[in-house]
Amino acid sequence: MSAREVMEKKMFVDGQWVDADSGAITDILDPYDASVAARVPHAGREEARRAIGAARRAFDQGPWPHMAASERAAVVRRIGDLVVRDREELARLETLDTGKTVEESRWDMDDVSGIFHYFAGLADKDGGEVIESPMPDTSSVVVREPVGVCGQISPWNYPLLQASWKLAPALAAGCTVIMKPSEITPLTTIKITELCEEAGVPAGVVNTVLGAGSQVGAELSESEDVDLISFTGGIDTGKRIIRAASTNVKKMALELGGKNPNIVFDDADFELALDHALNGVFFHAGQICSAGARLMVQDAIHDEFVDALEARIRNIRLGCGFDDKTEMGPVISAEHLAKVEEYVDVAQKEGARLRCGGARPTDPELQKGWFYLPTLFDRCENDMRIVQEEVFGPVISVERFHTEEEAVQRANATVYGLSAGFWTRDPDRIHRVSRALRFGTVWVNDFNVYFVQAPWGGYKQSGLGRELGRMGLEEYTEVKHIYQNHANKPLHWFGK
Ligand code: NAD
Repeated sequence: MSAREVMEKKMFVDGQWVDADSGAITDILDPYDASVAARVPHAGREEARRAIGAARRAFDQGPWPHMAASERAAVVRRIGDLVVRDREELARLETLDTGKTVEESRWDMDDVSGIFHYFAGLADKDGGEVIESPMPDTSSVVVREPVGVCGQISPWNYPLLQASWKLAPALAAGCTVIMKPSEITPLTTIKITELCEEAGVPAGVVNTVLGAGSQVGAELSESEDVDLISFTGGIDTGKRIIRAASTNVKKMALELGGKNPNIVFDDADFELALDHALNGVFFHAGQICSAGARLMVQDAIHDEFVDALEARIRNIRLGCGFDDKTEMGPVISAEHLAKVEEYVDVAQKEGARLRCGGARPTDPELQKGWFYLPTLFDRCENDMRIVQEEVFGPVISVERFHTEEEAVQRANATVYGLSAGFWTRDPDRIHRVSRALRFGTVWVNDFNVYFVQAPWGGYKQSGLGRELGRMGLEEYTEVKHIYQNHANKPLHWFGK
């Protein structure tokens, strides 16, 4: 597949590959040079309703939810195997759609296959639990059952990875699904839908509807036929979805934004912390919910650390994601680039000091796409917008701190609670600080590490529920207590 080939794709409703009713299409643009990479249907509420109807029938009439869990697991495992087979094609589609380096996309695809294999492995492991009933001659068992029809809305930064965190456990649990990828990055979600079909997922169990969040996404959130809505995206959209989902008191799983502190204490391994400070924020041009965009450095090493950081940032190579020499690609869209530029403006007006970047690159090769120079601000304070708000771009802010207590207090002073990291060699400090930080994930002497075995999710306004790990499967289940009386003795309560 060449990076310049324009693909024509359809969406998948009730086991059929279809266009939008209106015939409307969306041009999918390559962030590297703004060229058209693909054309896909642009559907609305009506197509979403049909997909919900198909998923409802597939759930209510089966056979998917009632199959032996091991039989479902075999299908989910096959999807993982097909991802392994098509890894390179999927990776190239992801890079075409997002601009990230193809090496990073390959890692993403390895994670994706691992997710299907992991949840296939878990699918038949929970046979319920016998509990001790307080009454004689009775028995009690607690079982988990699939929650039902699931709407799954995903963002553009990790299109297939985020969709897989939702799709694999939902299928393993026996749910039926309507996926709605971001309207700007649908290509790998379309491809995984093809792989689901090939793996033998029955018609109606997986549906993929392409269109605007305000139409397709809103229909999924509002519909009384949807039992669970799983959403990954921005905090404002998340709040809108919470309101919409109240129609039928849907189950909700929300993975929202983050502004994640990365704290470097003065006894840290300097070189290691420096390396990870760079990776923490400039990987995928900072478009990661857990990006360590908020660096905090202790006085004694602050100046030396920021000088070294600046030197390394100035050497980051921007370019095409398909070029092996590229270290950082563009941001996702023209609108997003404008948002990053606005934050850089605001930071300067608020008094932060721009150390490097703060502009678009001048290299002629990078003029068509949406590139932005890796940007460093120091002299940042806790109440600045550049510190408190999610820029979601290649911008790092640095705050200076004096004591451990101050670092913890500052780090926690945010509405977000997704992830945090810190660097120190002191074992007692590791214990204290990891407990004191109010975030869903805390990394000690590392940053931005996640894997399928461990739960992922946010404290505070970073979300509700957890994805990945055993908890990621439990999100897609309801808990039922089945109590049986074996004594058959009348109560004689009335009519003594
Ligand atoms: P976004 O909120 O703009 O869009 C996310 C999805 O929601 C898209 O598919 C969009 O079409 C849909 N949507 C938009 N309006 C909707 C509505 N009214 N009803 C239903 N759906 C609607 O987010 P984005 O810009 O695509 O992604 C970036 C955000 O995602 C960042 O805030 C980032 O932190 C967050 N994110 C979080 C995690 C996590 O694990 N916590 C992971 C990745 C991204």
